[in-house]
Amino acid sequence: MEQDIPPPPHVLIFPFPALGHVNSMLKLAEFLSIAGLRVTFLNSEYNHDRLTLHADVCSLYTRRFPGFQFKRITDGLPMDHPRIGDRFQEMLHSVRSVTPPLLKQMLTDDIKPPVNCIISDGFMSFVVDVANELGIPIIYFRTISACAFWAYFCIREIIDAGELPIQGKEDMDRLIKSVPGMETFLRCRDLPSFCRADDPLDRNIQLLMSETRSSPRAQGLILNTFDDLEGPILSQIRTHCPKIYTIGPLQAHLNTRVPSSSGTSTDSLQSTTNGFWEVDRSCMAWLDKQPPKTVVYVSFGSITTLSREEVIEFWYGLVNSNKRFLWVVRPDLVSGRDGESQVPEKLVEGTKERGYMVDWVPQEEVLAHRAVGGFLTHSGWNSTLESIVAAQPMICWPYFADQQVNSRFVSEVWKLGLDMKDVCDRKVVEKMVNDLMVERRGEFVKSADNMAKLARGSINEGGSSYSNLDRLKNDIKLITSQSTVI
Ligand code: UDP
Repeated sequence: MEQDIPPPPHVLIFPFPALGHVNSMLKLAEFLSIAGLRVTFLNSEYNHDRLTLHADVCSLYTRRFPGFQFKRITDGLPMDHPRIGDRFQEMLHSVRSVTPPLLKQMLTDDIKPPVNCIISDGFMSFVVDVANELGIPIIYFRTISACAFWAYFCIREIIDAGELPIQGKEDMDRLIKSVPGMETFLRCRDLPSFCRADDPLDRNIQLLMSETRSSPRAQGLILNTFDDLEGPILSQIRTHCPKIYTIGPLQAHLNTRVPSSSGTSTDSLQSTTNGFWEVDRSCMAWLDKQPPKTVVYVSFGSITTLSREEVIEFWYGLVNSNKRFLWVVRPDLVSGRDGESQVPEKLVEGTKERGYMVDWVPQEEVLAHRAVGGFLTHSGWNSTLESIVAAQPMICWPYFADQQVNSRFVSEVWKLGLDMKDVCDRKVVEKMVNDLMVERRGEFVKSADNMAKLARGSINEGGSSYSNLDRLKNDIKLITSQSTVI
């Protein structure tokens, strides 16, 4: 009888307010909506405004998924705060200090119908406190790699073993022995960038450590990765967080699950919502004119900033390599741009001949384009996964946070490319581009093809990520049916 059908669980999805986090959690929101769950997506006011600037994201989602709603909450910073580069870290602290009472008030008075389950960014342990107080089950989603998560988790062991602080530049290649599973290859320079502080009691180190150590307090941990990529490290994490759902690579996974009857392509949803900048599609027409596998795609993600000197080094390296390149130069990529100075003629000419620069591209389409043959990346986790799916070998130039760990795994464990960390020199850029595109191309392409196959296997029916997503959906239904609704 009709009245016997219980309403679907109502899940609140709450990302940390950075684009990489928002993108991944929006994909999860879409998965759960497709599965018939009711979703409220809680975005920071700043990010929501950025997301909706170039597309009517709200109606795109709500039209497709009845019951889907966006809600906004402050991240504690003024709207004109840049939230990128070295100012990004201020957000780590502001969110924690202002959000908890607001979240509690929203959950008790504002969000209707009552929320039955929270999926919160695992970097915001205050959400567990609020959820526990209100009796709402909570699952964490960490949007970083399992290897970076594990390195964060083990910072306490690293400090207890006396392996931090790092004693200056000459100490950077010392092996770190107290991260189980990484004893033979993780050097000081590969630790999350915050570990470079002189004082192990530095507040960023302590925050990252304590937030990550809080993960077992949630009822489960979702990771955007797949078992064949990070199996050994996942086994280590399971000793502390037994219920892990590896459901990545998320975008590729989503593409395999779009119901053919929906009539609306997930691709179009994602490509419209995948960024804070307006996508410049002219790069696709430019790529169409290039020979297969000849273009190096260059992007440093959404938060990284570069000094003008660094830009010039990369630029010379790319031009001197004589390879074609497509470079994303966000309007806010270059820090401290005081008065445009003259760009050397050689760079202007070299770019006209073989290069193309744009503000923002449809990255996943670019990586899948037949003309692209490699990716010079800042090793953000989304970019790394997107590169793996597209079987593109990488040159890594990690900027901060988890990226230092990711790039070590790309080069040393998965053998998918080269790690340029801590160096920004035109000669090195030129050499690495040539190694990637010519000299060592065979070996990198072989491992990249193999890893892309494993990624596809994980998201096809019966694969680990495919099964884990089903398990997650079932577990949400189970825990919400057992919990007392506020
Ligand atoms: N991205 C994009 N267009 C661009 C550059 C980046 O769509 O021109 C997307 C990219 O596909 C990825 C995200 O921005 O999904 C960047 O996330 P990542 O985790 O790699 O780095 P972050 O921006 O968090 O440092």
